[in-house]
Amino acid sequence: MQIHTLDLNFQNLSHAIAAYLIEGPEGYLLIETGPMSTLPALQSRLAEHGLSPGDIGDVVVTHIHLDHAGAAGWWAQHGARVYVHPMGAPHLIEPERLWQSATRIYGEAMESLWGSILPAPAEQVIPVRDGQQITAAGVTLRAIDTPGHAGHHHTYRLGDIGFTGDAAGVRVPGSDWVSLPAPPPEFNRELWWKTLDRLEAEKFAAIYPTHYGRVEDVAYQLGEIRGMIEDASTFVRARMEGGMERDDLVNAYVGWNRERALSRGMAADDFARYEAANPLFMSVDGLMRYWRKRAEAEARRSA
Ligand SMILES: [Zn+2]
Repeated sequence: MQIHTLDLNFQNLSHAIAAYLIEGPEGYLLIETGPMSTLPALQSRLAEHGLSPGDIGDVVVTHIHLDHAGAAGWWAQHGARVYVHPMGAPHLIEPERLWQSATRIYGEAMESLWGSILPAPAEQVIPVRDGQQITAAGVTLRAIDTPGHAGHHHTYRLGDIGFTGDAAGVRVPGSDWVSLPAPPPEFNRELWWKTLDRLEAEKFAAIYPTHYGRVEDVAYQLGEIRGMIEDASTFVRARMEGGMERDDLVNAYVGWNRERALSRGMAADDFARYEAANPLFMSVDGLMRYWRKRAEAEARRSA
């Protein structure tokens, strides 16, 4: 069995979004599809392995965000079975709401970032429960429910390897900085803590976050994202309580992240890859929404 990291060259940047090609004893399996905008790049990477789309019968997505699964409907229309979290499955079959939800985040930039989205034929979509095993291409993957970044998020275990999607954070090769993707509306700090407990208990020998590539210091990365969830949450809450407006908070958050990143020795060029893989304004919106919802829930309880 071999794992190939396919660089989708998102926005002409290397090492921002990956798809993983698993070469098993009985064929090939794709983990993550990337968005429709990078489908030509994905097809070129597959061609470098002598493969055409018809050679890929099985596609697994960690979750349905467009940078991970935007092209899943295309693959399903071309005959692949698409394995997905049960909460994500309906949105691959009828992607209008998924597209609208992303439009609330990305506005005018939707098409240039993500291209488009195609509906997956229902019979090609296979919902996968927590703990369920998938056998394809002669290898077996086990689904691990890993909410926090999104409610519809699985990590997939293959041997002693974990495909963590966004659940272990975002990290670009050559950097020690782990960045937090906290998109609205689903970022949930408490659920993510439990997810990190689960991921730690798996004792993976290596993980493959979608952004980007193989990571061998797994305990370090999981510790960093745990710390980042806390530090970023605290940063945003303190400024909300101080009455800071959203746009000012975005500026403050970008500056704070850049400083942390550069203090970890990141090259200034790499910051662009991070921002492409994980726009920081998006996390500000996700974190602000999380705290507002929490305050509303507390107000309801004390009413
Ligand atoms: Zn995501």
